[in-house]
Amino acid sequence: MTTLTAEQREMQALAREFADAEIAPRAAAWDRNGGYGREVLDKLGELGFLGMLVPEEYGGLGLAASTYLVVLEELARGDASVALAVSIHNGPVSRLLTAHGSDAQKSRWLPALASGAIVGAFALSEPEAGSDPGALATEARETVGGWTLAGTKRWVTNGGLADVVFVFAKTDGGVRDMDAARSVADGSARAIGAFLVDTDAEGYLVGRREKTMGLRASETVEVALNDVRLESDRLVGNRRRGLAHALDAIDLGRLGIAAQALGIAQAAMEHAASHAVERRQFGRPIAAFGAVRSKLAVMATRIAASRALLMEAARAWEASPPGPTAATWPAMAKLQASETAAWVTDQAVNVLGGSGFMREFPVERLMRDAKATEIYEGTSEILRMVIGRSVTNKGRHAWQS
Ligand SMILES: Cc1cc2nc3c(=O)[nH]c(=O)nc-3n(C[C@H](O)[C@H](O)[C@H](O)COP(=O)(O)OP(=O)(O)OC[C@H]3O[C@@H](n4cnc5c(N)ncnc54)[C@H](O)[C@@H]3O)c2cc1C
Repeated sequence: MTTLTAEQREMQALAREFADAEIAPRAAAWDRNGGYGREVLDKLGELGFLGMLVPEEYGGLGLAASTYLVVLEELARGDASVALAVSIHNGPVSRLLTAHGSDAQKSRWLPALASGAIVGAFALSEPEAGSDPGALATEARETVGGWTLAGTKRWVTNGGLADVVFVFAKTDGGVRDMDAARSVADGSARAIGAFLVDTDAEGYLVGRREKTMGLRASETVEVALNDVRLESDRLVGNRRRGLAHALDAIDLGRLGIAAQALGIAQAAMEHAASHAVERRQFGRPIAAFGAVRSKLAVMATRIAASRALLMEAARAWEASPPGPTAATWPAMAKLQASETAAWVTDQAVNVLGGSGFMREFPVERLMRDAKATEIYEGTSEILRMVIGRSVTNKGRHAWQS
């Protein structure tokens, strides 16, 4: 097991207590009913869990990334949909604002995000721009004193429940702009800006809610931007480098999804282990059979390995300046943890036998939830590309310490 600091243990205990009392017992009902309600996020805000990485001067807890991830894993062990909201809010949304906002922007929005008075979402994907977000078509036209946004965003988590959403849109007609590239390999870089949009702005229209395989308590919606007018202070960071800002913020997002995946895997292993001890066949608990015990042993080993990599990745990410070097570790951590979660939850269903296939037992939900962690914030194929690029780069590899 990864050695935790005293502060990490304290935060872990607080998160575990909250998840055990307020989240896990309701997760199955949220999955059935398709939502968890804003009051859960309000309570998380009261505990400081919506401003974990926000600097203390802006009302946050100012935690180290590794401590934040310990908390996030515990929340995901309770429910993956709640953890996804917490991850997007603390991760890409708050990160982009902290790293690239002006003092005035940070003072205006960070304290409200940190307290949970407002909830944030992140709208990058579009119908024709998923793994290749540089292909996005949403446009930001400059007007006197501001901007007008027009386009369609796809699969926005909490696109309706949130109060503010980072929307990425082409500026300056989306001209090719090498200054906007995150790396020299990114030859297709286009001028894209990051805009903080209120969800009650005129022209911000929440469309169809998707019927998803897993994470059914999480809202995944299409958003139409019908000439949404914004003041100039809604542009965060460089008007042409918004995609690079987004990708840097997604590095933190990937660490968060790795923690989410670990929480799902841990929950599945715990359910499988209790069932294996209680369920008797052939006159003995099924845990006595080597075939079953071996599954539990490999689950525990893969989870421990993924957790150790995640902690190392968090430290390395914090120590690196944003860019391709910093991207490798989060990609590794998410690839490892999400594939572990998919495997562990699949095996947990087998350990429960027929019960594993039944909706009254939690492991089928965990299996459905785990699948998503292999897809969003970079599919496993894209992560292999990011890591592979670092392996074939000349010189010392980014992931070598
Ligand atoms: C539940 C859920 C919530 C989401 N929430 C958000 C959100 O809040 N905000 C947001 O912006 N987006 C969100 N997304 C979108 C998500 O980020 C995208 O689905 C993801 O980036 C993949 O894009 P795509 O679905 O268009 O797949 P595609 O890009 O069409 O990929 C399809 C397949 O092709 C592979 N592929 C594509 N390009 C390559 C390549 N160069 N090399 C090898 N293989 C490749 C992919 O790995 C994948 O297997 C969410 C998605 C889901 C499922």
